[in-house]
Amino acid sequence: QKSFDPTKRTIVLLGTGWGAISFLKKLNTDDYNVVGINVKRFLSVLADVVISPRNYFLFTPLLPSCTVGTIELRSIMEPIRFITRHKSRNVKFFESECTDIDPESKTISITDVSDIKGAVSNSTIPYDYLVVAIGADNQTFGMAGVREYACFLKEIWDAQKIRTRLMDCVESAGFASQPPEEVNRLLHMVVVGGGPTGVEYAAELHDFLKDDLELWYPELADKLKITLVEALPNVLPMFSSQLIQYTERTFKQNKIEVMTKTMVKEVADKEIKVLKANNEMVTIPYGLLVWATGNCPRPLARKLMARIKEGQTSPRGLLIDDYMRVVGAQDMYAIGDCAFSRYAPTAQVATQQGKYLANIFESLARIEEGQNKKIAPFEYTHQGSLAYIGSDKAVADLPFLNGNVSVGGVATYVFWRSVYISYMFSFRNKFLVLGDWTKSKVFGRDVSRE
Ligand code: FAD
Ligand code: NAD
Repeated sequence: QKSFDPTKRTIVLLGTGWGAISFLKKLNTDDYNVVGINVKRFLSVLADVVISPRNYFLFTPLLPSCTVGTIELRSIMEPIRFITRHKSRNVKFFESECTDIDPESKTISITDVSDIKGAVSNSTIPYDYLVVAIGADNQTFGMAGVREYACFLKEIWDAQKIRTRLMDCVESAGFASQPPEEVNRLLHMVVVGGGPTGVEYAAELHDFLKDDLELWYPELADKLKITLVEALPNVLPMFSSQLIQYTERTFKQNKIEVMTKTMVKEVADKEIKVLKANNEMVTIPYGLLVWATGNCPRPLARKLMARIKEGQTSPRGLLIDDYMRVVGAQDMYAIGDCAFSRYAPTAQVATQQGKYLANIFESLARIEEGQNKKIAPFEYTHQGSLAYIGSDKAVADLPFLNGNVSVGGVATYVFWRSVYISYMFSFRNKFLVLGDWTKSKVFGRDVSRE
């Protein structure tokens, strides 16, 4: 690999998620090197600096499967170094959190947030171009108790926490002379949010109950109850009505209680209070509470929006134009969930934005060389929506000709699996996930608690 060239301009890339990794994979550092662009020129990008508090890429679509051990955590984590080593130029990676971005001085502040620190754990890094791909935070609506008592499902540690707590609830419910009402509370698993995250988690939990808990904890399994609470009139609002009905029917058959038109209003350590459509306030005791009510901007994105004086008018994220430029800032781009545009916050969108941005950098370089290149605005191509709904069934809305095809069932589940395996970046991860699926089918899921 070619080494860092101090005479060349630097792209600082924040994040190692879907947006950042697709950008990094597509960015042709070798190309820039060959053309020998130097510091005086607009786009002499020869070194990238990647900054993220986690040193791996996380394949989020399979994260719900990790909460019950269908798939092991490490199987969906791809070390960032496996990706950067394939670049023609050495990519510097700092495992740290970016705590501040100063668009005036074009610098960012980073902090080593890991347990082990060296003599230096804070630093400032200058950039020529900044690509912000920091994703989004969990939406809590500022409700007290959510961060203290609920589990989110966004990061690897969230899935680990859910898996541990789930088994803790089961073991505590089985504790000697546990009163029946306490057994019922401990075995009540409540999911808040009927978007795809909440639905897929409830589905995985149901499978775990049917395939494993009934076998290993027969005295408790029939007492375990799953409830999904959703404020809107139905779950999966982004899917076609046919698939919404199919999902709700499947959940009913699987004895997952779906409480629609019901909004969580209060969260305490052992119970939540919900407001139903008829204005009735109901108390629901729970053992495990999983909170999946969508996204909100991360504190860093909010801080940056406040710093940029003009144009940042959306409370939902960094406002970008059709070229991924952060409105009101110079030489700064944002992609993925941290950016606010007309697209949904999905991996599909983040991936396409990342690739598009790498192409923009390439086109700009060609233009600087004197070539005649037109830069077209970003256009998103929707490849369909997929979700797992339990009992080896999935739902899929797929674009077909000029319309849409809606399918659901076991065949769709096979399709769901094959799509996600094909989307995994490395052969290593594909192999590990296929191995996990086989292992959990043959031997059952691991019920030991870490
Ligand atoms: P992320 O992938 O969240 O990455 C953000 C990165 O920024 C991380 O590396 C993080 O460590 C880093 N970061 C955060 N703060 C800082 C900071 N201060 N400094 C430096 N780095 C920072 N979408 C689909 O299209 N299909 C699916 O099937 C699907 N399934 C999903 C399942 C689950 C359980 C979840 C939670 C989401 C799912 N999504 C799916 C949505 C998808 O995961 C997101 O849209 C996608 O991850 C967004 O990519 P991103 O790069 O913007 O952010
Ligand atoms: P979401 O925003 O899609 O859904 C959150 C749900 O929570 C909404 O339906 C909302 O009405 C509900 N809600 C909010 N507050 C509530 C309250 N107080 N009480 C009860 N219900 C409440 O969130 P998500 O499911 O986490 O998904 C986030 C993004 O990630 C979306 O863009 C989604 O498409 C994407 N994603 C996609 C997949 C997939 O394609 N299979 C899987 C997971 C996530």
